[in-house]
Amino acid sequence: MPLHVARRVHKLPFHHVQNGLMPPAKHHMPFNKAHITEFGLKIMERDPNTKAVVSVRCQFCVFNGREELHPEKVRKRAKTDKIMSWQRTFRTDYYQKHLDSQHCTVWATYQLLSYDQKNVFFVDVKPFKETLPHHFDSRYTEPSLVFTIESPIVDVIISQMFFNPAEQDAPGQVRALKLFKQTLSDADMYEVAIKNRRQFQLCISQISRGNSFRQVVGNLTSIKDIIGPSGIGSVTVEVVSNYARQISAVSLQRLMIILRENKSIWAFSLANDASTHWGSSYLDNRIRFQLRGKLYDVHAIAIPMFEQHTGINMFRLVTRFLDIICPIWRQKLLGVASDGASVMTGEFQGVVTRIEKEIPHKVRSDRRMRRCANC
Ligand SMILES: [Zn+2]
Repeated sequence: MPLHVARRVHKLPFHHVQNGLMPPAKHHMPFNKAHITEFGLKIMERDPNTKAVVSVRCQFCVFNGREELHPEKVRKRAKTDKIMSWQRTFRTDYYQKHLDSQHCTVWATYQLLSYDQKNVFFVDVKPFKETLPHHFDSRYTEPSLVFTIESPIVDVIISQMFFNPAEQDAPGQVRALKLFKQTLSDADMYEVAIKNRRQFQLCISQISRGNSFRQVVGNLTSIKDIIGPSGIGSVTVEVVSNYARQISAVSLQRLMIILRENKSIWAFSLANDASTHWGSSYLDNRIRFQLRGKLYDVHAIAIPMFEQHTGINMFRLVTRFLDIICPIWRQKLLGVASDGASVMTGEFQGVVTRIEKEIPHKVRSDRRMRRCANC
């Protein structure tokens, strides 16, 4: 391959590297039918001769309306009610950009749904223009944020793995589990309802920047003191820790859907690491996978280690987690890595050996976590 081509290919996203080609900006991408469900689209027009799709529209614009990503900012122009549509060029990065910027909250909820739930998401729903929030300031009429979580995430990971066996049924555990309500329609599902979206989004964004729960409370109190009534409401350490539990469950649900339902993810790798925080030991698990041309390195979970840090115990924790998050992990796991710290080396080999015995194919193992196990 000539050097200038090799250089260009090196910079391209994975799926384009496979083809060796990058679609030019105005390349007419044919429509992929699977995107109707994946991105909430509706076909609006077909070519009368070829029957090829000519135009699709965004169903979230029709049924949910556009959201304010930064409601605190003064707008120079009035918010548009225009229904977004795409003609002839059907690129996933265009859909993604629109959904992230205009339907951030409902799009986050939608992605957690199963394929069947997505298919009926817009059935029997009133168009946004016929609803009350369209006529009033949405800040005061926003409905609760509701997330649906599958029961093994709550019953096993949150309820059992996050608590010491001695703490089962203790007040702390009972309080934590009250955050998740079993749905009336399906006993295998739980619901998480967030009443104050603004407070939730502010708390989560602060936690994700590495602030402790106490720091989050301090920061939001300062903001309220400076800007006055803002819809943030009362924030305590307990409120923030509850949000952290809820967002952990929501994230695990999202990871589960990605690994289980996305056919394009044919493999992933695992990176384990042991850490200590306030005298407690944790087994950190990172999962690396490729999705829509991007390589993701996700911190999936820090599992508390209540028992001895032996290889067999760590193996049990990892497999218990994987059995829930990706029941067919034995077919999909390609590599296992660790940070190579002395605390892990002996035990790590024990974990790898046991994982290798479970898997029909050859697994790549690497003690240096920084090196990508997918490569
Ligand atoms: Zn839209």
